[in-house]
Amino acid sequence: MHAHRLCQRLILWLLLSLTVLALPAWSAEPVLDAASVDAAPLSLTTYVALLEDPDRTLTLQDVQSPTVAARFKGDQPPGSALGLGFTRSAYWLRLTLRNTGATPLQRMLVVENPRISHIQLHQPDSQGGYRSTSTGCDTDASTRVYPSRHFVFPLTLAPASEQVLYLRMESSVGLLIPLQLWEPAAFHAYERDDYVGKAWYFGIAAAMILFNLMLFVALRDRVYLLYVLFAVCISTTLAIKNGLAPEFIWGGTYLDSNVAYYSGVSLSLAAMLLFMRRMLQTDRLLPRVDRLLLGLVILYLLTPLAYAVALPVFGRLAILLNLTTAILIIGVGLACAIKRQRSAYFFLGAFALLMLGGAMTTLRAMGLMPTNVFTVDGIQLGSALEMILLAFALADRYNVMRRDKARVQEELLQAQQALVDTLKSSERELEQRVAQRTDELQLLNSKLETLSLTDALTGIANRRHFDQVLAQEWSRAQRLGHPVALAIMDVDWFKPYNDHYGHPAGDACLQQVAQALDATVCRSSDLVARYGGEEFVFLAPMTDDAGAQEIARRVVQAVQALASPHAASPLGHVTVSIGVAALQPGHDTLPGQLMQRADAALYQAKKQGRNRVALG
Ligand code: GH3
Ligand code: MG
Ligand code: MG
Repeated sequence: MHAHRLCQRLILWLLLSLTVLALPAWSAEPVLDAASVDAAPLSLTTYVALLEDPDRTLTLQDVQSPTVAARFKGDQPPGSALGLGFTRSAYWLRLTLRNTGATPLQRMLVVENPRISHIQLHQPDSQGGYRSTSTGCDTDASTRVYPSRHFVFPLTLAPASEQVLYLRMESSVGLLIPLQLWEPAAFHAYERDDYVGKAWYFGIAAAMILFNLMLFVALRDRVYLLYVLFAVCISTTLAIKNGLAPEFIWGGTYLDSNVAYYSGVSLSLAAMLLFMRRMLQTDRLLPRVDRLLLGLVILYLLTPLAYAVALPVFGRLAILLNLTTAILIIGVGLACAIKRQRSAYFFLGAFALLMLGGAMTTLRAMGLMPTNVFTVDGIQLGSALEMILLAFALADRYNVMRRDKARVQEELLQAQQALVDTLKSSERELEQRVAQRTDELQLLNSKLETLSLTDALTGIANRRHFDQVLAQEWSRAQRLGHPVALAIMDVDWFKPYNDHYGHPAGDACLQQVAQALDATVCRSSDLVARYGGEEFVFLAPMTDDAGAQEIARRVVQAVQALASPHAASPLGHVTVSIGVAALQPGHDTLPGQLMQRADAALYQAKKQGRNRVALG
């Protein structure tokens, strides 16, 4: 029983498979019931049959002819788009729509790739023929039956009808065909949101461009100009990519959109490299890589020429080149970040956001990621965030530069202060040294003075000192009208003493005599001095003859009291003779007169037998 059932099923499967194989190829694609499309769009990838026309020569009649029609291939892999890769072939798409309802159906056929060079829709008309609409990104915008950044074809499906549509597409570089069917109201709502999203992006880009342009004018730092250049390039490139440039800027007539798009990517990357070099100061941090980056910039500036000449060839290479550049940019960013270049952190973050956005858009286009706000506008979102983060990085860079400048200024100020301090302290030191030297000098001077006024042998005043004091006392006595007494003392028989005892003993004797004299003449106003050789003097201001004689006598006695033996003297001991004189100096009296009188008195004392005092 069970085996019988299995056998029945097997036969049924076999029959079904045979039927499928026997059917003509064009019937492989399913017919779409247009009414099934409601609020959400429907991807038509699985509903189309595809025919490649490498020579781009086939006409509508050709593709409808049974032989060519048999070459249409159905069973396209499901996804949001038909990815046909780099190709210059024309492609024919066949699609069968059905309206089973009793009322006419309005639907929008949307090709969501704004960069298809030529696109033709052949739609059945009411007379059983076909009506053709021809447009494309490189033809005038007026050829579009519905003004939009995408290619949109409004369709009307008669009640209880079925129609076969043919689409012919051709691109200057490659074909990615996201084909959708929309319900009109849903499409309008989507379109509004879509344009608002785009407006946000271009609003942000415009603001960033203008703001940084103003910063450049104000700060004169080339990095802002390079930022502006990059932002202009990338936003223009995205405008081309999104079909907004052909729609709003050049109306789709003058430029090959694909050449413009590829060139835009190149110029954006060139601007990005220039900006990166300046921002991360690669010339300082990575000099060799910096030269490579500059070479790459030059290469990128040449690529638009290559694209204009042979886009399909160079377009393929461009993907490789751009990928290498992206890796290089990340590498340079990482290297600079490792070298603790602060801007590199921001730069890496910003570039990663752009890459992430780009990757999401690409993966969504390849059908590997779901369609949502992040994937559809991923590249735009990434680009906007990148621009904002880079602008923030520029602000941070400015701040760091300002801080560095302030730090350098502070250091300079400190160095200056240190210099001033050093100067001040060395000045103080110098002053101290000068003061010390001055003190030393004064001490030395006074020592010198003392030395110059002192007799080296006896330690009492010398003749110079005596002359000075005599002059002072003389003028004082003249002023005040009091007497001045002066005595000259001479050692008796001194020459024989020297001869007998020797010169050194003579010196010692002179010292003894000087001491006795100094000790005897004790009044502070009196002055005792060695006048020369073995002659001494003393000066006694405000002293008359008698007073002076008295002092002199005491001196004679004091020397005698020394009892210093003098074998060569008739007296047997060392003795002295003193000549004393005193007078009250008049205005024209000179000290020499007093000296003469004292000297004369001394002569008298010697004459009278020595060891005595005589008054002059
Ligand atoms: P009189 O009693 O007449 O003074 O005889 P006198 O020998 O002392 O003669 P006079 O006064 O002319 O002699 C001075 C001597 O004093 C000469 C010299 O040899 C000695 N004399 C002078 N100055 C010094 C000195 O500094 N040291 C020593 N040892 N002798 C001196
Ligand atoms: Mg003498
Ligand atoms: Mg003598």
